[in-house]
Amino acid sequence: MNESVFDPQAQIGNSDLKIIAALERLSEGFRVLLWEKAKVLGISPIQIQILIFIQFHSDEKCKVSYLAQEFCLTKPTVSEAVKSLEQKGFIERQTEIKDTRSHTIHLTEAGKSAVAQTANFANPMLGSIAEIPSAEKGILLEQLLGVVSQLQRAGIISMQRMCFSCRFYQKNGDGHFCRFLNESLKNRELRLDCGEFEAAD
Ligand code: SF4
Repeated sequence: MNESVFDPQAQIGNSDLKIIAALERLSEGFRVLLWEKAKVLGISPIQIQILIFIQFHSDEKCKVSYLAQEFCLTKPTVSEAVKSLEQKGFIERQTEIKDTRSHTIHLTEAGKSAVAQTANFANPMLGSIAEIPSAEKGILLEQLLGVVSQLQRAGIISMQRMCFSCRFYQKNGDGHFCRFLNESLKNRELRLDCGEFEAAD
C-alpha cells in the first residue's frame, strides 16, 4: 500500500487511514498540552515526562537504562535530561548498595512540586472521553490496547506493561483472565501500566 495516511483524498472511503490520522491528531494534542506545561516550568517536555514517570513507578524502573527503553530514546539522551534535572534541583541520584555503578533516581521536594503542577497535563482530554457511553469505552480500550500490543510486537514501541503482553494474561473465550489476580477482567478493566506485570516469553 503506497497511500499516505495524511492524504485527504486517500482517506475518503478508507477508515484505516482515517483512524491512524485521528490517532496522530491525538498525539499532536498531547504534544501541545505538554509544551504548555513545559514553558511554565522552563524544562523540556521529556524532562516533565521523566519527572511524572518517576513519581508513579517503583525504584527499579527509575534508572537511566529503563527510562531510555520506556521513552524509546538513547541512554545518552536520557542521561543528559537527567543531568539537567539534577542541576535544576528536581531530582537526586542514589547509588545502589548492591551495584555502585547503578543509580536510582528520586524526586526532590522541588521535583514533587513540579509533578504536582504538571501531572494533569492530559486532563483536558478527559472531557471528550467522558461523553462516550460506558460499554463503548470498554470496547475502545480493548481495541486500542490491541493496537498498542501489535506495535510492540512489530518493534515500533518498547515493552508495554499491559495485559496483552503479560505472562499472567489468559484469553478467556471472548473475555480476559488474569492469573495473578485470579479473576476475570472485563474489557474496561484491562490494564495498560500494571504494577504486577511480568513480561510473557
Ligand atoms: S498482572 Fe496486570 S498486566 Fe498482567 S494480566 Fe494481570 S492485570 Fe493484566
